Amino acid sequence: MLEKTKKQIAILGSTGSIGTQALQIVQLYPDLYEVYAITANNNVELLIQQARTFLPEMVVIANKNKYAYLQAALADLPIKVYAGAESVAEVAEMGPVDIVLTAIVGYAGLLPTIRAIKAKKIIALANKETLVVAGELINRLANQYQAPILPVDSEHSAIFQCLVGESANPLSKVIITASGGPFRTFTHEQLQHVTREQALNHPNWSMGNKITIDSASMMNKGFEVIEAKWLFGLKQDQIEVVVHPQSIIHSMVEFEDGAVKAQLGVPDMILPIHYAFSYPYRVKSTAQKLDFKQISELTFEAPDCTRFRNLGLAYEALRQGGNVACVLNAANEVVVDAFLNDRIRFLSMSDVIEQTMQSIPFIASPTYDDYVATDEEARRVAQSKLQKIK
Ligand code: NAD
Ligand code: MG
Repeated sequence: MLEKTKKQIAILGSTGSIGTQALQIVQLYPDLYEVYAITANNNVELLIQQARTFLPEMVVIANKNKYAYLQAALADLPIKVYAGAESVAEVAEMGPVDIVLTAIVGYAGLLPTIRAIKAKKIIALANKETLVVAGELINRLANQYQAPILPVDSEHSAIFQCLVGESANPLSKVIITASGGPFRTFTHEQLQHVTREQALNHPNWSMGNKITIDSASMMNKGFEVIEAKWLFGLKQDQIEVVVHPQSIIHSMVEFEDGAVKAQLGVPDMILPIHYAFSYPYRVKSTAQKLDFKQISELTFEAPDCTRFRNLGLAYEALRQGGNVACVLNAANEVVVDAFLNDRIRFLSMSDVIEQTMQSIPFIASPTYDDYVATDEEARRVAQSKLQKIK
């Protein structure tokens, strides 16, 4: 049974892949959800269109240069319009908001997520970079403020769903599935020459550009390993990655008696996003269902950390702890942006990330300010390594 009152949702990053799908859910279930606030970085036209359709209380554009245009376009409506990163964080704290969906991409998601946690909101966490950068701090704050963090990432949602009803039963490990991306079968030589367009052509999932490149390079899977550590309180040897090209099994949990539970479904983010909104309930859906008669095979293979060095680098960051995963993330954001702008070759991305990880001083128990400084410094170092590699 679902609660009677509509849940008020703040969607941070409403114009992105996750954000637009979240709005589709609200549109399909107007009795269950209402959009309280939407925010975007640059895409002011889509933000205006969304504001006119969903009539939220508040709309924020992070890029202040677009504020005047946004305000003028919504002047006939009773919607409060703000601009800037601080305002994005402020809407995440607003009293009436029940759930904050963190669908911003990258490090920019960290601050508003912290602010939402401190305001004791339910966090529907899509922005995995928040946990990669500062998982320890986020867990500490989430405990202190009693703010639940519900995973949106499909693998972590799958694990979360497998754990329902199992609180008395320790798990022995989680098995995170990976599609392998568009280059799963490529040799090292072939990987040297792959293009931006090839990398953006993911076989199973349609997502924003940054995560699509991360999927092609397997950094996304590395991030998901780190994300799983913090979400489920796991040790490194309890997190296994297996390549499963069909993307039907979204991830699995093995318990101490040897039983393995899996969550399966068509590759579609609507279900994990909606589960984070409706948890602990499930909502009837007309979306496409699995037809097992049409599935001829489910296959599995070991991931290859030699061809896909980023996965190994992420495991290394996890092993070292402290601020190293923050460095990993910052360097990755720099090289992915460069790759998307044809300024670095696919395989060189791992070189810059590795060199940056080796250059930044280690901090064992970083504070928020340490993370900010580490991020800044790692970006600076990665940029300079990037120039040299070219
Ligand atoms: P996207 O690029 O499609 O959208 C990003 C959104 O964030 C946009 O609305 C953009 O305006 C906003 N944004 C970007 N930079 C910002 C900034 N500096 N300040 C404020 N807002 C900013 O990305 P996406 O694919 O929707 O991914 C969003 C997050 O969800 C990422 O962390 C990604 O790893 C995670 N995720 C995505 C998927 C997916 O299927 N797309 C699946 C799992 C996890
Ligand atoms: Mg995922």
